Amino acid sequence: MRAAAVAFPDALALLDDAGRVRWCNRAAERLLGLRWPQDRGADLVERFAGSALGERLKRGIDDSEEIASPLDAAIRLSVDAIAIGRGQRVLLARDISHLARLEQMRRDFVANVSHELRTPLTVIHGYLELLDPEDVPALAPVLDEMRTQSRRMGQIVEDLLTLSRLEMQRHIDEEHVAMSPLLALLGKEARALSQDRHRITIDAAAQCDLLGSQQDLHSAFSNLVSNAVRYTPAGGQIAIIWRRTSTGAEFAVADSGYGIPAEHLARLTERFYRVSSSRSRSSGGTGLGLSIVKHVLSLHQAHLAVESVVDHGSTFSCRFGAERLLTVDTES
Ligand code: ADP
Repeated sequence: MRAAAVAFPDALALLDDAGRVRWCNRAAERLLGLRWPQDRGADLVERFAGSALGERLKRGIDDSEEIASPLDAAIRLSVDAIAIGRGQRVLLARDISHLARLEQMRRDFVANVSHELRTPLTVIHGYLELLDPEDVPALAPVLDEMRTQSRRMGQIVEDLLTLSRLEMQRHIDEEHVAMSPLLALLGKEARALSQDRHRITIDAAAQCDLLGSQQDLHSAFSNLVSNAVRYTPAGGQIAIIWRRTSTGAEFAVADSGYGIPAEHLARLTERFYRVSSSRSRSSGGTGLGLSIVKHVLSLHQAHLAVESVVDHGSTFSCRFGAERLLTVDTES
C-alpha cells in the first residue's frame, strides 16, 4: 500500500491530530515542496506560513479548494483534507494547473471577443440612430427591427463584459450600501419597466444596511426586479422585500408570474440558459442576468435561493450572512 501511495501522482501527506506530518509521498515533494524524511513531525501550518496554503490550513479546509502551490504560484492545486479517524487527516493535493489554464483561456477569450465587438456595434448603432425612418417610409419597420437588434447585441456584449469582470475579480469594494434609497430606486425602475401593468410593493422590514459593492449589488437586484416584471403577465403582483432571516438578511423579489418548472431551477444561473427562449428574447432578455446575480452574490459570500410554482409565481432570494449587515447610518 505504501509503495502504491509513494508512486501516486497526487500529493499525499498523512497528518496526526496536531496537524504534524507523519508521512508524505513523492508527489508531495514535487507539488508542495515537502521533504521526506526531513519534514517528519513538521507542523504544516508553520511549514507553509506566509503562503495561501498555510492560511487555508490554519482556517481549516472543508471542501476541495483551489490553491496556489507554496512552491510555485503557477502550479494550481485542488486541495482536500480528509479525516481518517482519531483526529488524523490525509492532505490530498491534485495538480489542476492544466484545467486552470484552460479556464483562464476561456475567460480571456470571452472577454476579448466581447471587447472587440463593442466598438463596431457602437458604430452600427450610432449610424442606425442617425437614419430617419421618414426619409424612406417603406423601410421604417426594417430600420426599427435593426435598431432593436443592435440594442440587444449591445446589451449582450455589456452583460458579457460585466460577467468577465466579475469572474476575474477576487475582491469587491466594501462600501456601506444604504438599503432604503436602493429599494426606492429599484421600485422606481420596476414601475418604469412595468408601465402600470403590475402592482408593485416594497417591504423594507429588515432595518439594516449591507456591506459590499453598491454598483454590483444594484446590478444584481435590478436584474431580479426586471425578470419579475418581464415574466409576470399584466395584472400580476411584484413584491420587493428586504427582511431579516435566522442567519442574516435577504433581499427577495416575489412575483405572481409564469413560474418555472422544477427541472429547470438548478440550471437557471448558467450563461444563456433560458426556460423559454422566445419569451426571454421577446421581453428583451440576454440570458445572462442570473449568471451576473450568482457571481455578485458569491463575491459577497451570499447565495441565491429560488422557489417557484408554475402559473403561480416565483421568489428569488439573495441570502446574506450576518457579517454583511450594517446598522442604518441615520445621518446619511
Ligand atoms: P433572461 O435575460 O433570459 O431573463 P436570466 O439569466 O435573467 O436571463 O434568466 C434566465 C431564465 O430564467 C429566463 O430566461 C427565464 O426563463 C427564467 N426566469 C428568470 N426569472 C424569472 C421569473 N421571475 N419568473 C419566471 N422565469 C424566470
